[in-house]
Amino acid sequence: MNYHSMSADELRATQDDLQKLYEGLLSAGLKLDLTRGKPAPEQLDLSNELLSLPGLGDYRDASGTDCRNYGGVSGLPELRAIFAELLAVDADNLIAFGNASLDLMHQVVVSSLLKGTPDSPASWSSTGETVKFLCPSPGYDRHFAITEHYGIEMIPVPMLPNGPDVDVCAQLVADDPSIKGLWAVPTYSNPTGATYSEDVARALMAMPAAPDFRVFWDNAYAVHTLVDAPPTPLPIVDIAAQEGHPNRVYVFGSTSKITFAGAGVAFFGSSAANVKWLTDNLAFTTIGPDKINQLRHLRFFGDADGVRAHMAKHREILAPKFRLVLEILQDRLSDSKVAAWSEPEGGYFISLDVLDGAAMRTIELAKEAGIALTAAGSTYPYKHDPYDRNIRLAPTFPSTDDLRVAMDGVATCALLAATEKLLADVES
Ligand code: PMP
Repeated sequence: MNYHSMSADELRATQDDLQKLYEGLLSAGLKLDLTRGKPAPEQLDLSNELLSLPGLGDYRDASGTDCRNYGGVSGLPELRAIFAELLAVDADNLIAFGNASLDLMHQVVVSSLLKGTPDSPASWSSTGETVKFLCPSPGYDRHFAITEHYGIEMIPVPMLPNGPDVDVCAQLVADDPSIKGLWAVPTYSNPTGATYSEDVARALMAMPAAPDFRVFWDNAYAVHTLVDAPPTPLPIVDIAAQEGHPNRVYVFGSTSKITFAGAGVAFFGSSAANVKWLTDNLAFTTIGPDKINQLRHLRFFGDADGVRAHMAKHREILAPKFRLVLEILQDRLSDSKVAAWSEPEGGYFISLDVLDGAAMRTIELAKEAGIALTAAGSTYPYKHDPYDRNIRLAPTFPSTDDLRVAMDGVATCALLAATEKLLADVES
C-alpha cells in the first residue's frame, strides 16, 4: 500500500510489522557488503589465462619492441588499436598506460594545477582564483574525491536520463571562466546507469567556456553491457573538434572491470596536442608503463571482438544478479511509493532513491544489521546529498544467495526508515 496515503495509525501498524522483520535481520548476524563495485571472483576467473601470458620467450610485440625493457611511454600500438575501436578514439591519439584510469585522471588534474593545459594562460593554481568543476550528481565518489583533495570547488549539476542538464552546465560555464572541468561517465554512468545522448555530448563540446575548460569523459563502462544492443560509443574527440573545441575532452578507460581490477591497463585519448601534453608530463613519472602487462592483454584479447566476446561472459554472470536486485526492489518497495530505482542496461550499479530524508537512516539501519552500504551522500560532492535520498547499490561482488539476503534486508531498512520519517512528519 502507498505509504503516503496511510493514516498515522496505519503507519504505526506498518512500522510495527517492519520492526519485527528488522529484529529478525538483527538476530541473523549478517556480514554482507554492497559497498564497492568490485568484480566477483567468478568474473576474475574469466581472465585467469592472463596469469600465464605472455609466457616464456614471448616478450616482443609486432614491431619487435622488447616489452621487458624500459621505454615506450605511449604503450603498445596493437593494444591501443583494440581499445581505440572500443572507445571510438583514433589509435594515434590514445595511449595505454598503467593499471588504473583514476591514476591518469589524477595526473591530469595535478598537471593542470601545477603546469596548466596547452590552452591555459597560466597554471590553474597560479591564478589566485578558486578552480571549479561541474559535478553531475549523483556521480562517482572517487571523481569527487580527486577534486576535493586538491581544493577544487565542486558544483553539483542535475544528472538526467541522457546525461547532465546541459542548459545548467552551459549557463554556469558561460558566466564563470574559473570552471575548468566537468566529470562525466558517458556510458552506463556510475551510479544511475544513464548513457549520454549525442545531443548532450555535442552541447557539452560546443558550449562557450574558458579555453582550458575540459570534460573528463571517463568511459569506464564502455563495453560493460547487460543487453543485446549496447550503445555505440560516441567519437567524442572528433565531436569536440567538429564543435570548435578540439582540446576540450579527455577520454579515459581501463580494463579494470574487464580483466583484473588492480592489474589491468588504463587508457587516455584526446586531441594530438593534449596527448602530447599528458605524455610529456607522464614522462616525469615513469620511463615507461608495464608493457609486459600490456602484451599479455594483447595476447589474451587478440582484437576488439575478443574483448566483446569476453564481456559477454561477464554479462552471463552479472545479468542474473542485476535481475535479482530489481525483482526484490519491485516486490518489496514498489507498492509503498517511497522508493525509486534505476534499471540499468549495463555498468556496475543500481541507483536507489529512498524517501527524501531517509537515506542516512536506511544506511544506518542496514549497518546495524550487518549489511554494509556505500556511505550516505557518497554520490554527491562533499558527500552531501541535499535530499538525503540516494543510495548506490553494487550488486556485482556478492554471491547470488548473499545478494538476495542483503537486498531483502535493504528493502526492510528502507521501508522502516520511511515509516519513521513519515510518522515524524505527521507528528511534528
Ligand atoms: N571510473 C568509474 C566511473 C568507475 O566506476 C571506476 C571503478 N569503480 C573507475 C573509474 C576506476 O577505474 P580504474 O580501476 O581504471 O582506476
